[in-house]
Amino acid sequence: MTVTTRKNCYCYTCDKYFHYLGINRHRSMHRDRKEDCIIMYTHGDTKTFRFSKLQVASNDEVERRFI
Ligand SMILES: [Zn+2]
Repeated sequence: MTVTTRKNCYCYTCDKYFHYLGINRHRSMHRDRKEDCIIMYTHGDTKTFRFSKLQVASNDEVERRFI
């Protein structure tokens, strides 16, 4: 098993590299700002997160619908 200490996750949105242990926290930051982000993970898989569309269905909105 290989343990890597290099920063090998990459955020296309910010044009920055992140350590794989920090990338989830960084993704949460985009979610909190309701920004879309594109992140490349350790193994080269790239994922797009469309957080800008979440503002329509926040937790509050969902709860209100069921009352
Ligand atoms: Zn970013």
